[in-house]
Amino acid sequence: MSTATQSFTRQDAGPQSADERVEGAMRSFAKEFGALVGMNIESCIHCGMCAEACHFYIATEDAKYTPILKVEPFKKIFRRESGAFAPFFKLFNLKSKITVEELEEWQELMFDSCNQCGRCSLVCPMGIEVADLIEIGRRGMYDAGLAPKELADRARYQAEHGHPEEVDKPYAELLSEIGNAHDVEIPLDKAKADVFVCAPRSDMISNPSAVAAMAKVLNKLKVNYTFASNAIVAENYGHYAGSRELQKTISLRIIDAAKKVGAKTVVVPECGHAYTALRWQAADLVGEALPFKVRHVTEFLAEQLADGKLKLNQVDDEATAFHDPCKIVRKGGVMDAPRELMKAMGVNLKEMANHQGYSFCCGGGGGVNDLERAKPLRYKAQELKLHEIDATGARRFLTSCSDCRVAFEDAREFFNWDKQPESLVELVAANIKE
Ligand code: SF4
Ligand code: SF4
Repeated sequence: MSTATQSFTRQDAGPQSADERVEGAMRSFAKEFGALVGMNIESCIHCGMCAEACHFYIATEDAKYTPILKVEPFKKIFRRESGAFAPFFKLFNLKSKITVEELEEWQELMFDSCNQCGRCSLVCPMGIEVADLIEIGRRGMYDAGLAPKELADRARYQAEHGHPEEVDKPYAELLSEIGNAHDVEIPLDKAKADVFVCAPRSDMISNPSAVAAMAKVLNKLKVNYTFASNAIVAENYGHYAGSRELQKTISLRIIDAAKKVGAKTVVVPECGHAYTALRWQAADLVGEALPFKVRHVTEFLAEQLADGKLKLNQVDDEATAFHDPCKIVRKGGVMDAPRELMKAMGVNLKEMANHQGYSFCCGGGGGVNDLERAKPLRYKAQELKLHEIDATGARRFLTSCSDCRVAFEDAREFFNWDKQPESLVELVAANIKE
């Protein structure tokens, strides 16, 4: 395997002046600073364990990719603006105000070199939520007009239109075409349904068989479910870009559509960050409890399996590796569900050296897949993961996140890698007992 190198070219999202950017960032950071954030920042003992956990640091051995150092400017702002000694820092100008140049440098650290995978938070002996601090940093960057253009533009477009980019045909039409092409009924815009479903845009466009597979399984289980033509896309670019307002608007589209049909459950498809945004962050953003359960599709299917409603055939004994998507497994806690489904099918699972909560990221999460300029760094970080997959000796390679599949597909092409990432739900759909 080899990696290319490319110089980092920053792309800013907004037309603000340098001063306006700094003010925007400071306002946002000041809003987010609380006792918990302060405690997190001040308790670091500089042990370096977070560096050893982060694939970007491991791949480059560049100190700037040490997770806690990514929030260093944040620390400076905290000490100057909100810490216990802030008045003294200000009075004697001990901590100078952050500069726009620092914020600009920070963009690469906040976005290009962080998948928000949470592995650094997991290993920190002081319990510092490093990944959450980086997420807060992204919000400051968005407010400063320094979120990467690709993410900020898509977030804004999605908040307005329901999908992140202009499309040749409406998603409802695309969904209907997927149903016809795969000979599966996909219910759309039912007035009432027990379960509300959405689909990853990346699957709709690049891997429609995964969308059809989910519909096939739900049909087989006789679930009363529906998609809604105004809320088909599962992704939430507001989450990636660091805009809480846009994230909220995008989440509300799904929440309102699910409420309208009276859904008791929203099944999030194979999309890791959509799961985080809806299951763990949406209620907080909209300021009220959601009137339905949120389940990742593997979680939902494992429940059906446990209830005896889902019955599966045995697959061949092909050695199989499974990639645990960070947002679903480490951050979402859905560790057992995919393994229960694989066990029920007799999948010959070969675990990677780091799996379940300790799994390394695919390299594409947190919006990194969308950043063309981040590719060289991403490929470096991905090599580690590809080696772990290869070391299992598996030929079949499964995962349960469409974004991860996109990242592995890209790596497959770049490295001439010999594995084809496959959807776990597709394997389930192909092996339902008739
Ligand atoms: S692992 Fe925790 S304590 Fe150690 S350097 Fe990283 S943030 Fe600091
Ligand atoms: S969240 Fe993941 S990618 Fe980001 S700094 Fe931590 S370990 Fe690295």
